[in-house]
Amino acid sequence: MTEAETIEPDAPIQVLTTRLMRLRYTGTCAACRTTLGRGTTAEWHRPTKTVTCLACVEARRDKPGSLESVPPALVSPIQSLPPDPGEAGASARREYERRHQKREQGIEQKWGRLAPGVKILRDDPQSTTAWAKGSDGERRLAHHLQGGPV
Ligand SMILES: [Zn+2]
Repeated sequence: MTEAETIEPDAPIQVLTTRLMRLRYTGTCAACRTTLGRGTTAEWHRPTKTVTCLACVEARRDKPGSLESVPPALVSPIQSLPPDPGEAGASARREYERRHQKREQGIEQKWGRLAPGVKILRDDPQSTTAWAKGSDGERRLAHHLQGGPV
């Protein structure tokens, strides 16, 4: 047994299937598709007969556990689902209308034919308009999340 045939006991398994070498032919990096010219030092993966450029080898080392690099095209971005603009604010709007209607009825019962004038002179109480503002805010937020102008 010679010194060259000795495998280091703590060597990672990938040493057995991959090794750095100077390319005898022009190749393409399996991970980033960069053209690797003849004579370029790259990692040779024996089972798949593919080469990986040193930049991708380094990037792979930064992320232990992901030995097989995934092409960016196969990684789908996380789909964000903005709230339905038709539903957002609907509950607050209903609550506002319910309170508003209740107050209008109260004024009519109390003031009779003078009620229309009373409704104009007196704004809705803060508790009622707050609901309207909340509803408007929710709708504007939903609109904003969809990328439209506020
Ligand atoms: Zn590469």
